[in-house]
Amino acid sequence: MRTIIYTDEILEEALNLGRKYLHEGAVADYIPELAKVNANKVAISVIEDGNLKSIGDSKVRFSIQSIVKVILYSLAMKNYKVAELKKYVGVRPSAKPFNSVIELELSEKRIPVNPFINAGAIIIVAILYNVYREKTFDVILEKTSEFLGEEVDYSREIAQSEKESSFTNRTLIYLMLAKGLLPSDTKVEEVLDTYFKACSILVNTENLAHMSYVISNDGIDLEGKEIITPREARVLRSLMATCGTYDYSGDFAIRVGLPAKSGVGGGIVTASKNKTGLAVYAPRLDKHGNSYSGVRMLEFLSNELDLSIY
Ligand code: GLU
Repeated sequence: MRTIIYTDEILEEALNLGRKYLHEGAVADYIPELAKVNANKVAISVIEDGNLKSIGDSKVRFSIQSIVKVILYSLAMKNYKVAELKKYVGVRPSAKPFNSVIELELSEKRIPVNPFINAGAIIIVAILYNVYREKTFDVILEKTSEFLGEEVDYSREIAQSEKESSFTNRTLIYLMLAKGLLPSDTKVEEVLDTYFKACSILVNTENLAHMSYVISNDGIDLEGKEIITPREARVLRSLMATCGTYDYSGDFAIRVGLPAKSGVGGGIVTASKNKTGLAVYAPRLDKHGNSYSGVRMLEFLSNELDLSIY
């Protein structure tokens, strides 16, 4: 029997540290609906030895945002080899903010640098739309529910708010159309709507701990069901390590040392190789778009429990 490392005391200390930083950073407000969240929420959920343990506001739902990009890429890998996908989206870390137009303009072969920034995820949705057509969002929602260990839904309000404030995302998709990266008959509105809905899926840290467990356990969920293949899990972990926390990924590797994916909703899902799950939530973000308290809680846990893979 493995020794329990996530003791109540350690989790409490981590949460208290997270609380201390709750006033730092700012909630995302470029999507007006996101600015309405209660910024005092903070939560940690872990899965260890097959048991879920949580502390703080672990039942509070928030939008998954960029974390869904991991799931979108996993669906793309079900249909295409990574080598084929690389014609449309790279696997290189980004050096600019997650919605940067200039990075797309200047990138090698003028393709999005990776699937975890907006341009990259939008093109992945366009690729999925070609496969699943009007069923695309249903397929995404079903796969997301599998990753999260529970049937989930999306927030109509957040999806609508994303749509109404989607100036930059529209710029990105039109730029990709202009470059010929997307065919001219691409269903722009359908692709964007699907992307907005996917980002608006509501989750809590318990769900994200389950997702963390699946990716950390080579694709097998708590019930023993294969959600993704071991190879797909390895690709996701690699991309999370190098691209998962935007242009902060190098700093995050030093501070926390775990593959991870953050979203502007305030969640961070991590991955490891030791059959555990670990996820955190706190809505205020640093200037890169990562949960401010979330990064500090993970850093604390990583240092205390020697979690860094490096
Ligand atoms: N829906 C957000 C957007 O398109 C996702 C950004 C994120 O979480 O990084 O800007």
